[in-house]
Amino acid sequence: MREKILCPVCQVSFLLREEKKDGDEVICPVCGAVLIMRMDEEKRHLERPPDMDPEEEIRRRMDNFAKLRTYHFNQMKNPLIEGLLAKRERFGDFYCPCKIDHVQENVCPCLETRMGSVEQNGKCHCGLFWKEPPKNGEK
Ligand SMILES: [Zn+2]
Repeated sequence: MREKILCPVCQVSFLLREEKKDGDEVICPVCGAVLIMRMDEEKRHLERPPDMDPEEEIRRRMDNFAKLRTYHFNQMKNPLIEGLLAKRERFGDFYCPCKIDHVQENVCPCLETRMGSVEQNGKCHCGLFWKEPPKNGEK
């Protein structure tokens, strides 16, 4: 069964590369989100891992995304993770700590970043993802 399935994080539908069963982990090839396959009768869908520690969830997501795009991190990674965790705690999701609006398109990795802002500017809006390995001290 080769059909597209919706990522609940970036809202993009993608084709599953291999057959998955209920409870299997799936990595979104668009945003890197760690997801769990759910089968309810005939319908299948993906959900965010309900029992995963938030820090593990966002770290794995950003590491997957960086790997998918061959991006790099600098020393701001940990402070930005703190910011993302604070946003999740306060507003319910991993909204970009450098953006004001708590909307779906600002959930990390944000839409702007997924659309190629790193290729254009060398880094994402808040300097989490970098095109080239950053030199010492660069923010
Ligand atoms: Zn996604």
